[in-house]
Amino acid sequence: MAADRAHHVAPILVLHYHEVGLKGKNRAFFERTLVRNVNRALRGLGPATTRRLRGRLLVEGVPASALPQAVERLQKVFGLATISPGVEVPPTLDDMARAAVALVEGEPLPSFAVRARRAEKHYPFTSQEIGRVVGAAVVQATGAPVNLRRPHVEIFVEVANERAFVSTSRFRGPGGLPVGTGGLGVVLFSAGIDSPVAAWRMMKRGMEVILVHFHSQPFADRASEEKARRLAAILAEWHGPVELVIVPLIDAQQAIIAYAPERYRTLLYRRMMLRVAERVARERRAHALITGDSLGQVASQTVENMTAVTEATSMLVLRPLVGYDKSEIIAEAQRIGTYDVSILPQDDACTLLDPRRVETRATVEAVRRAEAGLDVEALADATFAQAHWERIPPPWWHDHAGRPQEPEEEAPCPPPL
Ligand code: ATP
Ligand code: MG
Repeated sequence: MAADRAHHVAPILVLHYHEVGLKGKNRAFFERTLVRNVNRALRGLGPATTRRLRGRLLVEGVPASALPQAVERLQKVFGLATISPGVEVPPTLDDMARAAVALVEGEPLPSFAVRARRAEKHYPFTSQEIGRVVGAAVVQATGAPVNLRRPHVEIFVEVANERAFVSTSRFRGPGGLPVGTGGLGVVLFSAGIDSPVAAWRMMKRGMEVILVHFHSQPFADRASEEKARRLAAILAEWHGPVELVIVPLIDAQQAIIAYAPERYRTLLYRRMMLRVAERVARERRAHALITGDSLGQVASQTVENMTAVTEATSMLVLRPLVGYDKSEIIAEAQRIGTYDVSILPQDDACTLLDPRRVETRATVEAVRRAEAGLDVEALADATFAQAHWERIPPPWWHDHAGRPQEPEEEAPCPPPL
């Protein structure tokens, strides 16, 4: 980094988050969880420490060579509004000006603006004064003109707690709330397009998730299970290591095929999935079940059918995509990075398992009658007993260049400065 030539500079990341609506205990919980998630995202990138400082986080200790990778990972940490790699300098006008010049020197600079902020009102200079002095130094060193409205480069200068930070790039974070601040949910996780997006939506609102995938082996191939694992790894980049529960549904499906009217099959499979997911939720003390249903998308997703399916559980069932168009879900899946895996082929159109006709206007009474010949609770227990529990980390989790693995538990947060 060019700035290494300057006096007393250390590479640093300044992370901003929105504090709107955060008060008292909630705020401390939000910040603590965010720090944990930031540390988790930086795993393996050097001896980084993250500290809270007046409404922002400071990450120190990431080597300059790992900064681009750090930024990329932090752009998947929910709760972050912006990520600014830069340098820390002593909080004098001279040091700030020198660092700003060092950061822009040697690069083409058609125009620039200085954006100064100070978190302390007792700092002897106002933001305007800081901006003026730093701007004048940059003009003198480079000859570049100031353009406050549409600059090619913005130079951010911040003063907080007798420290100063200077950076020339600011990346957008994903927004939302830190994963872990919004309870725990169990996602019915097919390997299709919708349920990974549903999981991501809940994660963005701070929910930690457990993913449950049902398969029909050996009547369907292993592709859906492998896809579920790959999709879980992609979501883990946003979530941190995630629990994936793989459940063979075939015994329950065969009982349903044998004892229930054909056109209710799909609905009864779904009810069985909810019952098993509820058992997963009870085991882990989760608060809600989540599905990727979108109203009217396919025959089984009418409002009547959703009512008839939901009745199988007393737990809260959240459907974050209920009002989305398929094209909107696809666009979001592409942004998240799950789409390409979701569309990989999988043999789940087994003619034995899928009914020729699907009931579109089921009632609770009708699905109960259709289930009357089955001991659904015993089937759900037996299916749950076959669950296979895995923990899926993000793809980079074990990338430590020859260094011993860190303990799985995160170190406690350092105290705020
Ligand atoms: P997706 O793209 O998520 O597969 P879909 O449009 O194919 O959804 P359906 O197959 O009708 O819709 O499934 C609706 C929802 O039921 C899914 O979003 C998911 O939450 C749940 N679900 C369906 N199949 C499975 C499965 N094999 N394992 C876990 N959950 C499932
Ligand atoms: Mg599906």
